Amino acid sequence: MPQSAMENTLQPMREDLRIVMTGDIHVRRTVEVSPLITDISTADCVFANLEGPACEKGTGYPSDKTVLLKTDPRWLDQLPSLGVRVVSLANNHMMDYGPAALEQTIRALDERGIRHTGAGLDEAAAFRPARIQCRGVDIAFLSFCCTLPPNYRATDGRPGVAGIRVRSSFEPDLSRMEEEPGSASLYVHTDVFPPDLGKVREAVRRASRDADIVIVGMHWGVSLGWTPVVQGQTADYQRPLADVLAGAGADILCGGHAHAINGVCRIENCVVGYSQGNFIWHPHASTPARLTPPYKSVEEPDWKRQRKREGYLLEAIIDRARTGRTLKEVRVVPYFLDDRGDPQRGSIEYSEEILGRLAGYAESSKIGKRWNSENGKATIQLC
Ligand SMILES: [Zn+2]
Repeated sequence: MPQSAMENTLQPMREDLRIVMTGDIHVRRTVEVSPLITDISTADCVFANLEGPACEKGTGYPSDKTVLLKTDPRWLDQLPSLGVRVVSLANNHMMDYGPAALEQTIRALDERGIRHTGAGLDEAAAFRPARIQCRGVDIAFLSFCCTLPPNYRATDGRPGVAGIRVRSSFEPDLSRMEEEPGSASLYVHTDVFPPDLGKVREAVRRASRDADIVIVGMHWGVSLGWTPVVQGQTADYQRPLADVLAGAGADILCGGHAHAINGVCRIENCVVGYSQGNFIWHPHASTPARLTPPYKSVEEPDWKRQRKREGYLLEAIIDRARTGRTLKEVRVVPYFLDDRGDPQRGSIEYSEEILGRLAGYAESSKIGKRWNSENGKATIQLC
């Protein structure tokens, strides 16, 4: 083959961009370098959800809630070398130590050149996308939080996260309760508060008008073990919300919060990872338990501890050569967390088992038949 023809054949590969979306991160020490970490650090950009503020000791006041998370800003030093260029701040821990801790987090990220989205000193700042240029491709990152402790949502004059309020109503199964006294035989209906739906749709629409690719971090869903057994892992509000955001122009929705994996689905040309699991999860100091409601302390069963160690990356491959800079494919790459809470690549059998399970979840069943899985990675071809 003449040299020029060979170059032409190779050109599309060289043109591709690789953006990696990880699950939730809570970093409290040096992350162990592993083949997986080395691999993601070569991506054009890594987007992660920073679960909790990075602030110095004594900053702010703890909220009255069951679990409080924070880390020291010095642990953020290593993020750029892991490839992390953008983080989501829209989560149910970002305001655990109040506005002062959020301000310090933003300052710490700015000082390190890490872009952020999903929280800010007011609502406009929280909803503002982080825009980056990756070898000529303009990418907008947004992030929203549906898991909202009281007062965590940014408003006109109040710092906080970019919130989407969700309403819940409860339908008890009375006959089941009589037959099974002591059980919580309930169906939980949930839907997004309509004014918030309009706001979030507009934010995504605007971003998709301005940028080539729109990636949205979603903090949503239900923590492992907290859904009624009759409902599976996905709350009712999630799919309709995903439909709206996909319709508004989101290319990828990458989900977190549940600390366990949940399915992947495709809505037209948008890929949705409902829950990617934890990515880096270093043990946190125990926090005083809230006095109410009267939880009995129940030891976490082994299966649950195991599930919290599973996760998957989403890798977006973007074709720079094509006009419109299109999303070419999205790869689903399973991993597990080791005893230190750092991510490691599992065996091919392990990864295939995770992919098989992901494909089996109700919301992803359609895609399960359409993705190609090979060597422990699944590929969703988009064009
Ligand atoms: Zn969370």
